[in-house]
Amino acid sequence: MTARVLIVDDIPTNVRLLEARLNAEYYDVVTASSGPEALSLCQSSDIDIVLLDVMMPDMDGFEVCQRLKADTRTQHIPVLMVTALDQPSDRVRGLQVGADDFLTKPVDDMQLLARVKSLVRLKSLTDELRARATTGQQIAIEDAMRAMDQVTSAGGSILIIDSDGRHAERIKGYLTPEHRVDILTQPADAVFQVTGAHYELALIAMSLTDFDPLRVCSQIRTLEHTRTLPIILMSDEVDKPKVMRALDLGVNDYISRPVERNELAARVRTQIRRHRYAQELRQSVNNTMALAVTDDMTGLYNRRYLDRHLSVMLEKAQSQDRDMALMILDIDHFKAVNDTYGHDAGDAALKEFAARLKRNIRGVDLACRFGGEEFVVLMPDTDHQQAEAVAERVRNAIAERSFDVGAGRPLSLTVSAGVALNETESDTPETLIKRADLALYRAKREGRNRVVFDAA
Ligand code: GH3
Ligand code: MG
Ligand code: MG
Repeated sequence: MTARVLIVDDIPTNVRLLEARLNAEYYDVVTASSGPEALSLCQSSDIDIVLLDVMMPDMDGFEVCQRLKADTRTQHIPVLMVTALDQPSDRVRGLQVGADDFLTKPVDDMQLLARVKSLVRLKSLTDELRARATTGQQIAIEDAMRAMDQVTSAGGSILIIDSDGRHAERIKGYLTPEHRVDILTQPADAVFQVTGAHYELALIAMSLTDFDPLRVCSQIRTLEHTRTLPIILMSDEVDKPKVMRALDLGVNDYISRPVERNELAARVRTQIRRHRYAQELRQSVNNTMALAVTDDMTGLYNRRYLDRHLSVMLEKAQSQDRDMALMILDIDHFKAVNDTYGHDAGDAALKEFAARLKRNIRGVDLACRFGGEEFVVLMPDTDHQQAEAVAERVRNAIAERSFDVGAGRPLSLTVSAGVALNETESDTPETLIKRADLALYRAKREGRNRVVFDAA
């Protein structure tokens, strides 16, 4: 996942060093040599994360951070503070002004990449939700902003998984009384323990006796109920390759042992705050916008919502050079269904169609009722092959089983689909839909019950 990183440092050598490392990982890097310059860049361009030097003349990093967090236009951008010395007092100040995390100079490669990756992942989630909120209603975004202000990290519910009971107790001591903390010394019970409870963070020790900590992490990530539970690993310096693998598995962050109190506080705060923020946004997106943007009959998004969301998504895909696919589906010979079975049966069939459609697309895909018996699915980060897989799965899900529409006899339906990909630079939402529609037309002409791709 790529992102635009702003490096802020008054010393050109430091900037170049960090820039080279991030460029090598394909991050898009922007630089600033002073606080005011950084602030104006954050306001005017899409910055995903700020790497901020603390010691700068005139306006220091603390002040820059404070101003970013006080401005509603920039407060959602994660700030990673780079401190020259491993000074606990710097970290305390950093926490007070709202820094999301810290790095110590000289910056270690793996720490840099782990921190950036962790913050970028969280930002992309909240961006997506913000985009949906913006698309939905102005009220929703205002609600979301207000919710974000109110989201604190206090009173978090944390589970420590560590077979070393004494170490676990010490960590618990660092986190209480601010948070509620449970300790689990039997890692084999971890999955059981986390599924029943409503934890907001798991802190897992890398060195579990007789148990692979990565297995615990991957189990947590696989279960529906705990998929979004933030995980921080507590690792020893020697475990570097294992930490890298853990980050790839979706672990959110790690902290080196011996665990430093303020550093722990910052990481825990970041994870809990973002977890709550994402939940909050999901809620407000669900509640406030449901009525204005969904289709009554099927519960899918409506056309108005698609029109607005598509332009946001297409712009994003184009500016970041990301894949995107758009599919239009049209039920075959649907007029005959009404004519033969009646309009009510037709309605029932449309509902069942929408339910099957939803079950067979992915969580990131967005399905909407485009009108009548036509539907559109918007698939972000999806290439030709993946889009084909989704489209074929949907086509099959309609054709393989008849529909029970309460008309006495079962009804067989098929659907035709046209797909267009984001591969033409000049595409607008209209031309993308147009291309998918032309492909759909070909699918109809070539015999229906099939998927056709637009040849851009
Ligand atoms: P094709 O395979 O070419 O798509 O044939 P078709 O019959 O599906 O195409 P056409 O566009 O001619 O007909 C669409 C029909 O869908 C006509 C309309 O009565 C029906 N329809 C559209 N919206 C609804 C609805 O909300 N409820 C019901 N019951 N029928 C609907
Ligand atoms: Mg039609
Ligand atoms: Mg039709």
